[in-house]
Amino acid sequence: MKKIILICLCLLLLTTGCNKKEIKTEINEDKHIAINYPVTGVNVLDDAISTYINKTCNNFKKEYKNYNKPELNISYTYKELNNNIINVSLNTEINADKKINKIKTFTYDKKTKKFLSMEDIVQDLYILDYNLKKELLEKYKEADMDFLSNISYDYFTIDDKNLTIYLGPTILKDTNEQIIFLDIPLDSLKLLIDIDKTNNQDNYINIKKKNINYDDKIVALTFDDGPSKYTNKILDILKNNDACATFFVIGNKVNFYNETLNRMIKEGSEIGNHSYNHKWLNRLSETEFKEEINKTQEIVKNITGFTPKLFRPTYGGYSDKLKSYTDLTFVLWDVDSSDWKVKTENKILKNIIPNTKDGSIILMHDNHEYSLKALEAVIKELKEKDYKFVTVSELLEIKKIRENE
Ligand code: ZN
Repeated sequence: MKKIILICLCLLLLTTGCNKKEIKTEINEDKHIAINYPVTGVNVLDDAISTYINKTCNNFKKEYKNYNKPELNISYTYKELNNNIINVSLNTEINADKKINKIKTFTYDKKTKKFLSMEDIVQDLYILDYNLKKELLEKYKEADMDFLSNISYDYFTIDDKNLTIYLGPTILKDTNEQIIFLDIPLDSLKLLIDIDKTNNQDNYINIKKKNINYDDKIVALTFDDGPSKYTNKILDILKNNDACATFFVIGNKVNFYNETLNRMIKEGSEIGNHSYNHKWLNRLSETEFKEEINKTQEIVKNITGFTPKLFRPTYGGYSDKLKSYTDLTFVLWDVDSSDWKVKTENKILKNIIPNTKDGSIILMHDNHEYSLKALEAVIKELKEKDYKFVTVSELLEIKKIRENE
């Protein structure tokens, strides 16, 4: 009877060749089997995954049939890179008289329609060897160097920062860790594939790359109501001054400024949502409000690959009810440049500089010339006061870290 249940489970896994992306969970309470794995919608990859799971399942059945309550658990990680490279890793854990871990990884390129091996990704394997050994010895002093002389790169995943190499237990003596993984920074390797960093959702927090310490004086410049013909010039000034900003864009304008939007993300700035048509939100129904937000989310994501995390309410007006309609973080400001009203560089500076403190969010607008004209001076004066420029997400992250210290 038990045998039949297990065979059924395995057959079920084999026949799940549908095209919908989903996470499958198969649990057999009696046999202590739990398997989670992704169905990616790419048939050849999904076939490879279910073949592997079936094999693992059958082997478990055979090898552990005489054990007392053996347990099989398969978990997964799923990572997409550049919208075309899919990484799936399957971690098998068997708990019988002792614990056994096994890893299996799949790296599939949707563009070339083939599975990628390390030779497809890294140009000079000896550089990878060198970095891997360095990393390994740093992390595990007891690593077995003999084993390292003929290392194979069968198990790995790749994201836009690291190549993660998985190594089996034989490499270490006297350790309970059975699978170890090592992150090799892509910057240290010569790659054969292009990594497009604009598609990374984590890209909006770059505190490390920007060399910012948590106790530095920080400030976030924000620009509302764009993009416009002035936004590119604002980006030029930010770039020349090693600064960044957060642009709360109006969705209906975005299509005219694809390049500008992509620049924001590439150059370390952030894009926030400022609704689609700049309507007064308090007058909107839930459906209308969600439409204002979602249309902008979608259009920004389609152009840049980046999904905004922040929302700036139009006219700074909102209610708790509106807040409950979305997962986006509502962001206001504590320093108002009133650039659209005062119009001159001097008055804009006067509104900003004396009112800015560590952690301030400064409100400006990029849909007219005034802020553009004042920006160079604003940055210069803030730099003289030792401020570092961060995006709003970075600012919130740093504040959170400070609070927890
Ligand atoms: Zn506005």
